[in-house]
Amino acid sequence: MMPVDDDLYKTSCVVQATTVEQVQAVVKICDEFAIPVWTISTGRNFGYGTAAPAKRGTVVLDLKHMNKIIEIDPDLGTALVEPGVTYQQLFDYLEANNLPFYLSCPAPSAIAGPVGNTMDRGVGYTPMASIS
Ligand SMILES: Cc1cc2nc3c(=O)[nH]c(=O)nc-3n(C[C@H](O)[C@H](O)[C@H](O)COP(=O)(O)OP(=O)(O)OC[C@H]3O[C@@H](n4cnc5c(N)ncnc54)[C@H](O)[C@@H]3O)c2cc1C
Repeated sequence: MMPVDDDLYKTSCVVQATTVEQVQAVVKICDEFAIPVWTISTGRNFGYGTAAPAKRGTVVLDLKHMNKIIEIDPDLGTALVEPGVTYQQLFDYLEANNLPFYLSCPAPSAIAGPVGNTMDRGVGYTPMASIS
């Protein structure tokens, strides 16, 4: 959806991390060699570049496989989740654990996730907007 040549946004490579240690190692190497990094969570930023980086030659750090729900606080209504967790996963978790919360998803719905949406300064469809 960009009005310029796609080649301007070609990546050097895509790295799919599954642990915090891997993320740290990738960032350390990229820092050492001054390689730009573009991080995505579920990579469903449709309409705003999807998973494409902002400039050519960037390493895309894909976190979609880090998808654990670490903790949901039933009193405060807060969720601690890894970046690849989707709204669908979160919804299923709430249902399975009988937690009385309602998610405020953006229009692309269940396939996107709260971390990427928050980093994108996104909003959902309830008066409270995004849960995150
Ligand atoms: C028809 C249509 C309707 C839409 N409606 C809405 C809407 O109602 N509300 C809304 O908010 N958006 C909307 N969007 C935009 C977008 O699809 C959503 O914001 C979606 O939630 C983003 O996808 P994601 O959660 O997979 O984020 P990602 O694509 O994973 O991430 C979004 C961006 O945030 C940054 N980022 C992500 N994760 C990290 C991280 N761990 N560390 C550092 N930076 C990170 C990156 O720059 C990344 O490009 C819409 C798009 C379309 C095409």
